[in-house]
Amino acid sequence: MRWPSKISHNRINLFLLSLIVVFSFSTFSYGGKSFKQQSGKHFIVYFDDTIDDAWAHDVLNQAEKYYDTIAETIGYARYQNFWTWDERVKIVVYANQKDFMDQTHQPSWSTGFVVRDYKLFSSRVIISYLQEQDFLTNVLPHEISHLILRDFIGFDQKIPLWFDEGIAQFFENGRREEAYKVMKLLVKNDKALPIIDLFNKDIHAEKEDWKVLQFYAQSVSVVDFLISKYGSESFGELCRSLKDGDEFEDALKKTYNPSLDSAQTLEQKWLNFIRNSSKND
Ligand SMILES: [Zn+2]
Repeated sequence: MRWPSKISHNRINLFLLSLIVVFSFSTFSYGGKSFKQQSGKHFIVYFDDTIDDAWAHDVLNQAEKYYDTIAETIGYARYQNFWTWDERVKIVVYANQKDFMDQTHQPSWSTGFVVRDYKLFSSRVIISYLQEQDFLTNVLPHEISHLILRDFIGFDQKIPLWFDEGIAQFFENGRREEAYKVMKLLVKNDKALPIIDLFNKDIHAEKEDWKVLQFYAQSVSVVDFLISKYGSESFGELCRSLKDGDEFEDALKKTYNPSLDSAQTLEQKWLNFIRNSSKND
């Protein structure tokens, strides 16, 4: 189903420092809720009309910045640039958690999620609700990363869950530093997940909170290790190899040989990185 077409357009040019983009402002109703809209180059923000226009404008600006950074890091930027016009990603922001849950039937712990074919829309959508602290700095980059990675690697290819979540957290504000501290402690006490378990773990089935924390922290920590040690150029190659259908370990070998020739070498070098690195201690 396409987005309701009865939208009143009221174009206003905004003077922006660096973006040469015309934003359009519109309002419409859906499911008893009234939404406004702001459009940029790659994103359209639909927000509850009780939410401040300036906040939605920040969301749009931030989303565009994240797009550039994330696309560059995973090597997507050089290949594709099709999140424009009809392909723009929709970001839907409800006024509060209750509206979000009523409309999307997400569990109460969910702060946002990504869908490619949500019934309300015709394409990629990020759905969340107004969260003063976290939205701009964490929810937004996290969900945009999932979408870009999916688009780049392809919906038919399997992406290891830890890798997907590791990249998404990598772009969150402060997440790497937090993970580093957690992993430093776990590694010291011999409580890190063996790399093979990390590669194969389905965290959705996990019931113990600390194991969920361990999985997420280790995921972003290994991604952080790969990018900070070997650079984003190689990381882009790794993603490209996955896009071509290689299994993760084969992709790893292809990209980082001879430095990393197996999952075990990766584990060993990552452990050393955690043990010896003193960042943020
Ligand atoms: Zn995620």
